[in-house]
Amino acid sequence: MRLSLRRQVRQRDRFRCAYCGISEEEIGAELTIDHFRPVRHGGSHALENLVYACHACNEFKGHFWSAEVAGRLLHPGQDEIAHHIQEGDDGSLLGLTERGRLHSVWHGLKQHLVFSQANRNSVSHRVILRARGIISPCT
Ligand SMILES: [Zn+2]
Repeated sequence: MRLSLRRQVRQRDRFRCAYCGISEEEIGAELTIDHFRPVRHGGSHALENLVYACHACNEFKGHFWSAEVAGRLLHPGQDEIAHHIQEGDDGSLLGLTERGRLHSVWHGLKQHLVFSQANRNSVSHRVILRARGIISPCT
């Protein structure tokens, strides 16, 4: 990836993970670049398809994509997140719209995985996503 493109993504997303909000400062390192629509599913390397993401979010998201969800999972650079999600007093995310609810389910699953380190490399999250119909069985 061109360095200038990476810099543009970092600056646009204000040096924070666009999915969970953790900053470079909090992590103590630069974050990763996520392809919102994975390359293997036809995603491009253009700026609008790139999202600044922490390692945990990027790893959890993986190749998450399905035609059904396309356009429904919130894109931090293209959606007004506040219109779809509200943060509760306990830090949990409350979906205000259908897309917001899907995003908060996804976010909640990710949080769960981060805290259960033992399961991080297992396939359990994919099983959960499949059970909820969020990803198709072939992914
Ligand atoms: Zn993150």
